[in-house]
Amino acid sequence: MSARIIDGKAIAQKVLEEARAGAARLRERGIEPGLAVVLVGEDPASQVYVRNKVLKAAEAGILSFEHRLSTTTSEADVLALIDELNRRDDVHGILVQLPLPRHIDEQKIIEAIRYDKDVDGFHALNAGALQQGRPALVACTPWGCLRLLKETLGNLDGKHAVVVGRSNIVGKPMAALLLRENCAVTIVHSRVPDAAALARQADIVVAAVGRPRLVDAHWIKPGATVIDVGINRIEENGKSRLVGDVDFEQVKNIAAAITPVPGGVGPMTIACLMQNTVSAATAQHAIY
Ligand code: NDP
Repeated sequence: MSARIIDGKAIAQKVLEEARAGAARLRERGIEPGLAVVLVGEDPASQVYVRNKVLKAAEAGILSFEHRLSTTTSEADVLALIDELNRRDDVHGILVQLPLPRHIDEQKIIEAIRYDKDVDGFHALNAGALQQGRPALVACTPWGCLRLLKETLGNLDGKHAVVVGRSNIVGKPMAALLLRENCAVTIVHSRVPDAAALARQADIVVAAVGRPRLVDAHWIKPGATVIDVGINRIEENGKSRLVGDVDFEQVKNIAAAITPVPGGVGPMTIACLMQNTVSAATAQHAIY
C-alpha cells in the first residue's frame, strides 16, 4: 500500500489565504503590515529564498522592504540597519536571511532584532517563550510542519513523535510544539547509537537532519506519518536534484502519510512567515 502524499503546496496556499485575510483586516483599520527582508551577500540559494518571500508577501497583501547588502558589509553596518528597522513603525517583521557571511556573528544579529518583530522566531525570547508554552512568534519551518500534521491527523493528543535533529531552528522548536499538542516526544541526534530503533516506535517522525535519504524503511513503523524537512541538492545519474532527509521511495510503501521534497515543508515555511508578519503587526497595534 502506498502512503498518502501530503500536499504542502495546497496547505500552504490555505495558510497564505489566512494571512491575506488577516492583512486585509489590518488594512481596514488603517494598518499596512510590512516585512523587511535583509540579504547580505550573493549566496544563490539565499537569493532565491528572498525573491520567493518578497513574491509571497505581495500575494498576501504585505508590503515588503528589501535590503540587499554586499558580502563585505560590516557587522556594525548590519546592526545599524536592524536598529533602524526596529524603530520604524511601518516595519512589523524583520527577516535576516541566513546564512550570513562568516565575519558576521549570526546570533548577535538575531538577538538585535526586536523580539516582537522577530518573524523568524529565532530570538531567545521567542524560543524561550515557546519552551514555556507561552505566546511567541514561532519558527516558521516547525510551525509549518505542525500545521501539516494537524491537517493530516487532526488531534495529536497522546501520539508518540520522534524528531530527528536538535537544531535551534527546526528540531528543538518542533519538539516544543509537539509537546504543546500533548504528544510524547523523543528527540534523536547524531550521538544516539540506534536512532532508527527509537524512530521505529513512533506514530510521527519529523526528519530535520541535512543528510540525504538517511531515514529509510528501517526507521519507520507501518502506518506512521512522516514529515521530511530536509532539502539536499545531490548529483544523481549525471543530474542535479533535490532530495529530502527521508528515502521517499522506500518509506512511501510503509508510512500512512508522507511529505514530498520538493512540495512538502518548503512552501509551508514561507506561508507561515506571512502569518507571523500579520500576527506581529496585530500584536504591535494591540488588536486581538
Ligand atoms: P542542522 O545541521 O543545524 O542540524 C542537523 C541535526 O541533525 C543535528 O541536530 C544533528 O545532530 C542531527 N544529525 C546529523 N546526523 C545525524 C544522524 N546520522 N542521525 C541522527 N541525527 C543526526 O540542520 P537544520 O536543522 O538547520 O536543517 C536540517 C535540514 O532541514 C537540512 O536539510 C536543511 O536544509 C533543511 N531545512 C529546510 C527548511 C525548509 O523550509 N524546508 C528550513 C530549514 C532547514 P547533532 O546535534 O548531534 O550534530
